[in-house]
Amino acid sequence: MKKIALVALVAATLCGCGQKDSDTIKMITEATFPPYEFLRGQEIVGIDVEICRAVAQKLGKKFSCDTVDFDSVIPAVISGKAHLAAAGITVTEDRKKNVDFSDPYVKTGIVVIYKKDNPFTDKAQLKGRRIGVQAGTTSEAFVTDELKQEPERAKSPAEAVAALKAGRVEFVIADVDPAKNCVKGEESLALSDFITSEEYAIAIKKGQPELLQTINETIAEIKADGRLAQWVKAYTEEADKLKEL
Ligand code: GLN
Repeated sequence: MKKIALVALVAATLCGCGQKDSDTIKMITEATFPPYEFLRGQEIVGIDVEICRAVAQKLGKKFSCDTVDFDSVIPAVISGKAHLAAAGITVTEDRKKNVDFSDPYVKTGIVVIYKKDNPFTDKAQLKGRRIGVQAGTTSEAFVTDELKQEPERAKSPAEAVAALKAGRVEFVIADVDPAKNCVKGEESLALSDFITSEEYAIAIKKGQPELLQTINETIAEIKADGRLAQWVKAYTEEADKLKEL
């Protein structure tokens, strides 16, 4: 009996979440991105976590969530380690080649974080400057593709801002919400207006029209019944109270 149970356990582990009989929807994220995902003690919480939990509920499945570096989030759904990738992921043409995106649930963009004694004026000023970004993000793509230079890559927006404060970079580029969180209480730092216009959506492995439809229905429902707005408010308030991430 014991042996059979062990074999079943090993098989379940090896098959991972690609298995049809999996009773758990696995979300993959990168939990340094408040208010979308951040750590409350050991627990990963945030707007994206609630959206994915609602998808699991609609499917009648259990829910789990894991965190990895941002540049490993999309690979995790491509390889089948997770079902749903949600990490404030911007829909881009490049990413669409590798994953399917749900309908967007937020309109947003990236901003420049600067020191007030070295004010940011316009994009042209960024050329040739040392710029900090979170690795694998649209902020990194802005520096490599638009400015045609190499950024200083950090593991999180907060780590990039620590480099700015320490003088290792002159500017940081990040999504507006985590950027706001990073400058809160920092008298010497300020934020620019949007330098891009972006939308967040959930990414899944290609070729799953039924799952995509369920995700889109869930997004429509949480927008219509006010849950999404309520999560945005609650997690923005909670994230505002966090200092170090
Ligand atoms: N929205 C940005 C992107 O998709 C950053 C996301 C993040 O750092 N979690 O690249």
